Amino acid sequence: MTQNPFFENPFFENWSTPFGVPPFDRIRPEHFPPAFERGMEDQIAEITAITRSSGAPSFANTIEALERSGRLLDRVSRVFFNLDSSNTNDALEAIARDYAPVLAQHRMRIALDPDLFARIAELHASRESLGLAPDQRRLIERYHLRFVRSGALLTPDQKARMAAISERLASLHTQFGQNVLHDERDWRLILDEADLDGLPQFARAAAAEAATERGLERKYAVTLSRSAVEPFLTFSSRRDLRRAVWEAWTARGTHAGPRDNAPLIGEIVALRTEQARLLGYDNFADYRLDDSMAKTATAVERLLREVWQPAKAKARDETAALEATARAEGLNEPIEAWDWRYYAEKVRQTKYNLDEAEVKPYFVLDNMVATAFDTATRLFGITFTERDDVPVYHPDVRVWEVRDRAGGHLGLFLHDNFARPGKQSGAWSSRYRDQEMMDEPVTPIVVNNNNFAKGTPTLLSFDDARTLFHEFGHGLHALLSRVRYRSQSGTSVLRDFVEFPSQIFEHWATAPETLRTYARHYRTGEPMPEELLQRLNAARTFNQGFATVEYTASALIDLELHRTAPPTNLDATRFEREFLDRMEVPRQIGLRHRLAHFQHLFSGGGYAAGYYAYLWAEVLEADGFAAFAEAGDIFDPGLAARLKDVYCAGDTRDPMELYRAFRGREPTIAALLEQRGLGAVGDD
Ligand SMILES: [Zn+2]
Repeated sequence: MTQNPFFENPFFENWSTPFGVPPFDRIRPEHFPPAFERGMEDQIAEITAITRSSGAPSFANTIEALERSGRLLDRVSRVFFNLDSSNTNDALEAIARDYAPVLAQHRMRIALDPDLFARIAELHASRESLGLAPDQRRLIERYHLRFVRSGALLTPDQKARMAAISERLASLHTQFGQNVLHDERDWRLILDEADLDGLPQFARAAAAEAATERGLERKYAVTLSRSAVEPFLTFSSRRDLRRAVWEAWTARGTHAGPRDNAPLIGEIVALRTEQARLLGYDNFADYRLDDSMAKTATAVERLLREVWQPAKAKARDETAALEATARAEGLNEPIEAWDWRYYAEKVRQTKYNLDEAEVKPYFVLDNMVATAFDTATRLFGITFTERDDVPVYHPDVRVWEVRDRAGGHLGLFLHDNFARPGKQSGAWSSRYRDQEMMDEPVTPIVVNNNNFAKGTPTLLSFDDARTLFHEFGHGLHALLSRVRYRSQSGTSVLRDFVEFPSQIFEHWATAPETLRTYARHYRTGEPMPEELLQRLNAARTFNQGFATVEYTASALIDLELHRTAPPTNLDATRFEREFLDRMEVPRQIGLRHRLAHFQHLFSGGGYAAGYYAYLWAEVLEADGFAAFAEAGDIFDPGLAARLKDVYCAGDTRDPMELYRAFRGREPTIAALLEQRGLGAVGDD
């Protein structure tokens, strides 16, 4: 019997799948619009029931009722936006364009509802006398702040303008992301055997696989996925081809025509500025940072500046070493951005006798996944069992059941590791369901996305391995969550704290203790030789001038753009060029993300004036991991237990308070400077 999508919509049924995972095999694009519509209607009815309730506002009839509202909308939104990021197609993209503004309007309708806000404000004012537990008190404070920051205190006219801007921004964000994806999908460099000079076996295999996937037998293709671009720029001895790949990579989002992102950036920044001013701030950065650990743009700038000059000084030394190598190889002109990785690799080989192609065979994807799981077992006592009875949305996705120390079900972990057309670039962690236990225990369903180039077996670079652990750290934050309320669950913390649990977890990917056990050669199964491990460790801070400049320049331009940009007629290309000149960003390095494809800032608002969050969290993370180093055991049980408390707490406590409870004191920047080799003079 065939299903008629108009009568049978999986979103309107209870899911009898294992663990209530979405029935991916039955969900079709046409199921989303009616589910979105009904989801919004249901939530409006639920909100109306709250505001019309005759009793005086109470925590239960207002805050908990709000937590309970919008369940259907949440369910359909999570499935939709996860699929639209990981496995999109024309139909999903069209729905995203249609519904982004509608959903924004829906959210603003609730956020600006005067009757609802009146109840929240009343509860907020009397919160000290309501006999609430600490998590409940914080929940009220966060709700109240969120409503105020959405415009609840504005006049009706101002509210209407806030709502209209949010709606327009949602469309612009969606369009921005789709433009980048299309530029990535459309471009590929087709190569013949003769064009592969310098490429090691793994890169050739990945290029062959990429060509085969696109129906090009006996050819090779380089795509614009970072995991294809980076190795090509590192190894190809063909300067002309490196340049072609570099230029395509950095031109994403800049092509004139309907997919040009420059005008979108101008409009987005102007609208954000207008919203910030309506809310009484000078600019968007002040507005954004007011609700962060950093608190002010000045504090963020201070941190960025603290690493900027030392990073540039280190990058100057690195440039000199690269140019010396380039000259010795017969390049008689300055090195360019498309040369950096290539000559850096040569310097690394000479200086540390370290060859990426020698290291990579020891980083087999499956082994590193097992390492990540095992690290979580040793630190936090949780275990992972693969399940093949759970529906998935793509055959590449693998599913693991996560159990606690006592064997109880803790959640599901979906791993989606490979690059493919229709998947956003980069790496990210997300959820299909959040943990909570307000009415009954709800276990999380977490997904990690990466964009590794598939191989047999898939081999990772050292950086890839860290990325794998980074996203898994976010995954653990969601899986270990033990909170009462959904909106405090797992990663729902302040944006400049959310990278702490993910970044600190990266340390276990590269720790010698880990590598000795898990880094095994894909052919021989031999563990990594001890002396190779020592060489890897010695090269720890190599090229960190480059990495720090590339990142910090992006964080600075983000801050500056949202702090100083003129509210109208911003020319993003010119702004970028002037910024690069003024800050004297080395031409051979540039920005890690150019504005035209800076998805952190423009595919959504999440990291706008917030890209610094990675460095902010690195202060905590470097300082935090130093505690394990000081203890002399990276699995020190006492520290691990206290770290687990951070992962479990979600947003139930203030982040600095959480950090102090883990570390016993506030963090200092010393460990960060040390781990990037930016500390003592002459340190490398
Ligand atoms: Zn992250």
